[in-house]
Amino acid sequence: MKVIEHIDKASASGQQPLISYEIVPPPRGSSVKDVIDVVEVLATMNPPWIDVTSHSSVTQYHERGDGTISKRTVRKRPGTLGICGIIQNRFKIDTVSHILCQGFSKEETEDALIELSFLGIHNVLALRGDTPSGLAATGAVTASGRVINRFASDLVTQIGEIRKGKFVEDIVDSKPLDFCVGVAGYPEKHFEAPSLRADVANLKRKVDAGADYVITQMFFDNQKFFAFEAACREAGITVPIIPGLKVLRSAAQLRSLPKAFFIDLPDALVEPVLKNPEHAVEIGQEWTLKQSVELIDRGFKNLHYYILNDVSSVKGIVKKLGV
Ligand code: FAD
Repeated sequence: MKVIEHIDKASASGQQPLISYEIVPPPRGSSVKDVIDVVEVLATMNPPWIDVTSHSSVTQYHERGDGTISKRTVRKRPGTLGICGIIQNRFKIDTVSHILCQGFSKEETEDALIELSFLGIHNVLALRGDTPSGLAATGAVTASGRVINRFASDLVTQIGEIRKGKFVEDIVDSKPLDFCVGVAGYPEKHFEAPSLRADVANLKRKVDAGADYVITQMFFDNQKFFAFEAACREAGITVPIIPGLKVLRSAAQLRSLPKAFFIDLPDALVEPVLKNPEHAVEIGQEWTLKQSVELIDRGFKNLHYYILNDVSSVKGIVKKLGV
């Protein structure tokens, strides 16, 4: 079933809150069993769908013993499509595969969508990906002859074409591939956008290009989400907006989360963790529970938890929410 169908069905039947989860593929060299173990636990929590992140290549520089520097491009976490296939077909849980512009040509994106449809997966989250330096315009041909998408809205447009049966190269009698498409939204604005309003205008481009729903970056201050949601509605975005939440798991994350995700942490969360760093997990869980309850009370009955493969951090919360 598609994400949008899950949302409609849960809302019609009152079977809410609806809680989805996001997991990451194992690093290159690790066993897929680690992820399967996580999905086994998630399966007991009856998730409507599970998102699997995607990771483009990163360039690594190594200093050799002789002082020269070698350059290598590696994809640290391959396996998104394979893991989606396992979750969808072995666990019979709907899966959302993340698809990136960054690091993939339009042809490779098309190949991934074909593979997903063969695996019975009809949900994708269309993203640009990070490391934007040197991005060429959409449709530009890179040195290796590959045509690229620049922004997520361009990727949504490409998926829209495939939904109509239009592929990169014209194919006679081609069949449409059906996908439900989500896109990312940023309650605290995307770090490159000059203002929240400009960022919301770009989010609307993604929705106008055909996105079915928005899922947000993690946030720890519900007021920021409420203001963002209001700005989206004012801008004419009518699709569902699903809040993304993460449990703070250590005092070290007080520094790493803002740095990695360009978000603020409220003092009411930071101060108790600084006072009792050994209780960071419990404080973090209590905070996420409070956020979840308030969101549900305010009518946001679909929540998305970024678990980053630590399912233990959310199990108790989900139980307390009565899911
Ligand atoms: P876009 O929507 O393309 O926006 C990027 C920036 O460009 C924004 O500042 C926007 O305002 C601006 N912009 C957009 N369109 C235009 C335009 N036409 N003209 C000028 N400016 C424009 N990253 C991964 O690598 N793998 C993942 O699996 C992954 N999953 C994610 C899941 C969620 C729910 C979220 C919120 C983020 C995820 N990310 C992931 C991170 C994401 O790739 C980065 O945040 C990235 O920097 C932006 O992606 P985007 O799709 O929002 O980009």
